Amino acid sequence: MTLFFRTISVEEAIRASRSIAVRMPSEIIPLSEACGRVLDSGITAGADIPSFSRSTMDGFALVTADTIGASESLPAMLRLAGRMGMGSGAGIGVSPGRCVYVPTGGAVPEGADGLAMVEICEQLGDQVLVRKPVANGENIMTRGEDFPAGSMVLTKGTRLTHRDIGALAAVGAARVPVTRQPVVGIISTGNELVPVPDIPAPGQVRDINSYLIGAFLVNRGCIPEYSGIVRDDRAALRTVLTRALERCDAVLLSGGSSKDDRDMTAEIIRESGEVLVHGISISPGKPTIIGRAGGKPVIGLPGHPASAYIVALVIVRPLLAEMTGERDPGFPVRTLTLAENVPSARGREDYIRVRIHGGKAYPEFGKSGLINTLIRSDGLIRIPAGKEGLEEGECVEVILW
Ligand code: AMP
Ligand code: MG
Repeated sequence: MTLFFRTISVEEAIRASRSIAVRMPSEIIPLSEACGRVLDSGITAGADIPSFSRSTMDGFALVTADTIGASESLPAMLRLAGRMGMGSGAGIGVSPGRCVYVPTGGAVPEGADGLAMVEICEQLGDQVLVRKPVANGENIMTRGEDFPAGSMVLTKGTRLTHRDIGALAAVGAARVPVTRQPVVGIISTGNELVPVPDIPAPGQVRDINSYLIGAFLVNRGCIPEYSGIVRDDRAALRTVLTRALERCDAVLLSGGSSKDDRDMTAEIIRESGEVLVHGISISPGKPTIIGRAGGKPVIGLPGHPASAYIVALVIVRPLLAEMTGERDPGFPVRTLTLAENVPSARGREDYIRVRIHGGKAYPEFGKSGLINTLIRSDGLIRIPAGKEGLEEGECVEVILW
């Protein structure tokens, strides 16, 4: 299928980019290295967690029926039968009229069905006065309450967060099955580009995309492989792309992706494989190429950094999710009121940078070549292709950066 010289919808482009994804194989890694990785199979609790009933407070484990009607003036009086140590489970039991001191997280003894926190108790020798009634189950986390044996803790396709890592530690998942991190090549093209440490001469600009897209890839759980800057020279670009394809699972090029004579990216991708899409009805980001070479995805991003970034978010992100098996790579969003009218051409999906202030979203209508809006904005609003703009006062979903 070749859709050359015809822009296609964002939806079709996402479908095309997903369709060329190469699924990463599974590997088993230590839990300490798993944050940000995508689970390749679900993790269930092998046993009840916690494996014993625990107190959630420092206090006295007791039979709650003993505390019915207890008050400041008429406290329940119980005999202290012992103290539980941390890390030990067996030993003392609780029966009517008796209580056992249990520190936070300690094992609640057999026979107890509630725990009076120390704040409502007073210890006088081996007697404990309880000044309020204690409800059944109060201040106790029962065995298996966190994760019952056999229950699903996290499902396949979950990208592991810091919090997920904690839960996996709780169920003893010391090693976890994840998909291998895609190695993604980055090639910046353009005669005007100079390395970041250089002082650009007139007409030159620093290579922003290698860093911007590289950082984006790291954030998406990939390993960027930098090819550096390539001149607008067919042979040079062909050589660098060929080498990148040998080492990487996918390659992202930026610059030269339009249809001008001097734009050679599409031609080079076609020579190495095929171009499925050239041109997407998206702004910014129209001159985008979706191709494949050696069975691997090759994406031609627009040269302008802000455009390249939007295309990375909208088109490359779902491709990477397909490669890693990430189930739901959704964006964090916030619903806000639009502070100004935003015009948009029908038939084109627009992404407008917005700044959030006082609960409203203010569109940033800077010149398209400016970089500063990438940091002086809080996110994006999407205007679907079927709409001719949005009106002031409308509710909009802001995709947060
Ligand atoms: P192009 O698509 O090659 O015509 O590039 C469009 C615009 O993006 C030009 O102004 C380029 O100088 C700029 N550009 C292309 N690649 C990069 C890059 N890696 N870093 C910063 N600007 C770039
Ligand atoms: Mg260029």
